[in-house]
Amino acid sequence: MTQKSENGGATFDDNNDGRGPSPEPFLSTKGYCVTCDSSVTFESFHPWLRDHFLCSNCRSIPRERALMLAIERFFPSWREFRVHESSPCGRGASVKLRKGCREYIGSHFFPDIPPGQTHASGWRCENLEAMSFPNESFDMVVTQDVMEHIFDPAKAFAEIARTLKPGGSHIFTVPIVRKEKESQVRALRDRNGNVVHLLPENYHGNPIDANGSLVTIDWGYDIVPFIETHSGLLTTLVYFDDLAHGIRAELIEVLISRKLPAYSKLKA
Ligand SMILES: [Zn+2]
Repeated sequence: MTQKSENGGATFDDNNDGRGPSPEPFLSTKGYCVTCDSSVTFESFHPWLRDHFLCSNCRSIPRERALMLAIERFFPSWREFRVHESSPCGRGASVKLRKGCREYIGSHFFPDIPPGQTHASGWRCENLEAMSFPNESFDMVVTQDVMEHIFDPAKAFAEIARTLKPGGSHIFTVPIVRKEKESQVRALRDRNGNVVHLLPENYHGNPIDANGSLVTIDWGYDIVPFIETHSGLLTTLVYFDDLAHGIRAELIEVLISRKLPAYSKLKA
């Protein structure tokens, strides 16, 4: 069966108790939105807060606010950074980073043009598994619900590490749906580049493709050692439950993978 949803909700339908939208707000609270820097109302008419607990001003969702709060808390000088965001969207943290960073490069993968070129849409083309950026280009790489759509995540994490400056960080969200269970590959590419589905096809919304993005892997917490093994980056998981910032939902961990110079030397 093929599933599709706007913000990745279809994967998680089992988690919403079968309850659908309601005429009364399921949750409504006033607070401060860190992605649009405004005093707002956060409201959801659906029990699945991950996709429905919206900011009244910028329409951001909880994982976007969690990512931005992590950046504000742990990287207060982010405005001085050179940042690459892979697959940004048109709201929330993507917009704030694009406007606020010293240098911000947003990229999407367009299979019809070479990496490094600018697509007609204005976005730079980059393939996370083989990027055209030189080594040590960025202070921060950002991805939001992207790493569950990569066919070769080992290569992608290694590429992200290569393009980070020493001391730089990959900060990202990814739904860790398997939690303490082992990560599970849903789809892979064979030698000829054909997609092989090991589990029923599952698609999440994609800002540049109406067909959505295929989920290739359901991650568990073993993503942390996976990243270290394949990239040398050391990962911390942060989970915010912070209603004053409109942050409450399942599966909104923020992962911060650091390229620690001393650690790299130790491993060399
Ligand atoms: Zn907002």
